[in-house]
Amino acid sequence: MSEHYEKVKVQLEEQMKAPAEDAGGEAPADPPPAPALPATAPAPALSRSARRETSRTSVHPRNRSKSRGKASSRDTNANVRQDWDKCKGLSRLGSEQMLQIKGTGKILQGKTETNGSKEEDRGENGKEKGSRVVQKRRSVTVDTSKAKTSLEALKLSIKQLKWKEFPMGRRTACDIYWHGVSFHDNENIVSGQVNKFPGMIEMLRKINLSRAVRTMQELFPEEYNFYPRSWILPDEYQLFSTQIRLLKDNDSTLKPTFIVKPDSGSQGDGIYLIRDPADLRAFSGAQVKQAVVQEYIQKPLLIDKLKFDIRLYVLVRSLEPLEIYIAKEGLSRFCTEPYQEPSQKNLSHVFMHLTNYSLNIHSGNFVHSDSCSTGSKRTFSSVLYRLASKGVDIKKVWSDIIALVIKTVIALVPELKVFYQADIPPGKPGPTCFQILGFDILLMKNLKPVLLEVNANPSMRIEHEQEVSPGVFEYVPSPVDEEVKVGVIRDTLRLMDPVQKKPHMANLLGGASEEAIAVEAGSEERVRLVESLPSLCLKQVFPKYMKQFNYLRMVERIADIFLRFLGVKGTMKLGPTGFRTFIRNCKLSNSSFTMASVDILYIDITRRWSGMVPDSREAGMGLQAFVEAFFYLAARRFKALPLREQVLSLLELCESALEGQGHVEKSRAQKQHSGINPAPPHTTALLITGSNEPYLNGLMRSQQL
Ligand code: ADP
Repeated sequence: MSEHYEKVKVQLEEQMKAPAEDAGGEAPADPPPAPALPATAPAPALSRSARRETSRTSVHPRNRSKSRGKASSRDTNANVRQDWDKCKGLSRLGSEQMLQIKGTGKILQGKTETNGSKEEDRGENGKEKGSRVVQKRRSVTVDTSKAKTSLEALKLSIKQLKWKEFPMGRRTACDIYWHGVSFHDNENIVSGQVNKFPGMIEMLRKINLSRAVRTMQELFPEEYNFYPRSWILPDEYQLFSTQIRLLKDNDSTLKPTFIVKPDSGSQGDGIYLIRDPADLRAFSGAQVKQAVVQEYIQKPLLIDKLKFDIRLYVLVRSLEPLEIYIAKEGLSRFCTEPYQEPSQKNLSHVFMHLTNYSLNIHSGNFVHSDSCSTGSKRTFSSVLYRLASKGVDIKKVWSDIIALVIKTVIALVPELKVFYQADIPPGKPGPTCFQILGFDILLMKNLKPVLLEVNANPSMRIEHEQEVSPGVFEYVPSPVDEEVKVGVIRDTLRLMDPVQKKPHMANLLGGASEEAIAVEAGSEERVRLVESLPSLCLKQVFPKYMKQFNYLRMVERIADIFLRFLGVKGTMKLGPTGFRTFIRNCKLSNSSFTMASVDILYIDITRRWSGMVPDSREAGMGLQAFVEAFFYLAARRFKALPLREQVLSLLELCESALEGQGHVEKSRAQKQHSGINPAPPHTTALLITGSNEPYLNGLMRSQQL
């Protein structure tokens, strides 16, 4: 290893150990490329089947054998793991010894079995046999009956923690329920913890995510410029066309590209690139599909001439108080065809433009590597090493990524709270929730991270399909996946351990290390177990960086007001009476804004939103519509101020009015709890420059009222 590389490695380890101490740091100033309009023919279809036909690898289902657990696959596993260990330059240790990779939370143990591959250690139904230590205390119980594709990694994690797995479910309550899809996979859970939040899937659909981020962009355009400009189809087709035409009129040399993504699509399905609004396929047929059309990032950072993206795992440990953790290790997924900027000729080249593993695996160029730093799927840290060796300030990259994650979660929280209260109303017995999310991030050539999407159910598979001989496919262990994903699941479980005392409170109060997990007094076995585990690969970023980001939580404060007037009956929509009560209690009506005007405002906004969200569960005013009404009221009341200060002023007015009416306890407690600073010192320093469609619409309507 060269001296230079050694130096860089040490530097990186130091940086990864305490990343983002300056996490409020904003991204480089370069804005994303502005769109323009060249008239071109529609892009060729990129259907999945067509794409597969172009790939050189053929998949023969009859020849496939699911061989995980069989001897051949185990051998591969052992070989792969040896190579994997070598790739980190780490020697094998004795059975009791462990070597921790500084800063990543990774640990290598002398025995490969410690990853849980020795089935004989576990009896049927996952019952632990051997350890006397485990028998002394009550094991944490995990219902894995609905875990689906994350099962393998989950089993390994439970085994490492010496917890008790219930693969067929249990008649009495479990401490933790691991669901593969949604909060509702098991019904009627009244206690314990579930690994999904109600409403997360809905919130992370492409349209809802775009809407949530857009609301934040209206208030904080600079802070939320990490999300590409997006339009929601079919509602905003006209707006999209008009804006692109105007841009083209202004500068005919601009040649923008757009990426069209079906609302509920995943794994690249149904995605295509266009260069002109007229090429949108949804508009050629009778059926108009819900989709997002988004500015395509034309200049991504390339490694080995290939486009790649980053999959980072993020744990939302709780909504109230907000707690966010980021896994220090992630995955980088590479395209399999050298990248060229989009042109009419290459628009349909999926292996060049889309980084999805599920697509590129079908390319003849896909490289399965036993090394963490080569091949088509690598660890994120190996990419950072590579960038650091070229002189890139990876600490800045990492802190920008942390900021992106925190801001995105802050954008999602308001609506998630509404879903949460609807499913688990205060006072009704129910579980608490946590969730691992998969953030897909692209680095631009200028190193600015861009959010592509957030997955509510990121793949936790730790094996992949491989052609072991011509035409014969097997599921073989994927060391890169296992390394990253087992760590994420195991550490999530550790953080959710119901027996441990809450480490986050210790952090809040005394700044104790996040990795020092407090345990019940007298539970020496647990202390020993905790000490024998690797340090956490999950890094707490919120409330740790609360001070830098709390000023962004304005929509959450609006949601708190909305929730108060919603009541606790499991509803998500505000009726006209609830809206009137809000206006009255906050003292917002007067002679120039009568209750009749309030009713018109309610009907107007509610009707428009119910047209935009046709599949909504019930009638009434949802949170997004309420936020628009709130912005409108703020603009009406504080005309002279920029939007953000208008909203902030109205929030303060409403909160103090409600405090005076018996809401004081909750309001104060909530502010303390969430650490919300109602008037951030730098509020006025920021300029509002973004487009404010709903706000402008609101102003126009105010003329009519
Ligand atoms: P899916 O859920 O179907 O995977 P994504 O939003 O993740 O949809 O997009 C699929 C892939 O397309 C991404 O992994 C990325 O490679 C590429 N991509 C998505 N959005 C953009 C964009 N705005 N600019 C450039 N590439 C993008």
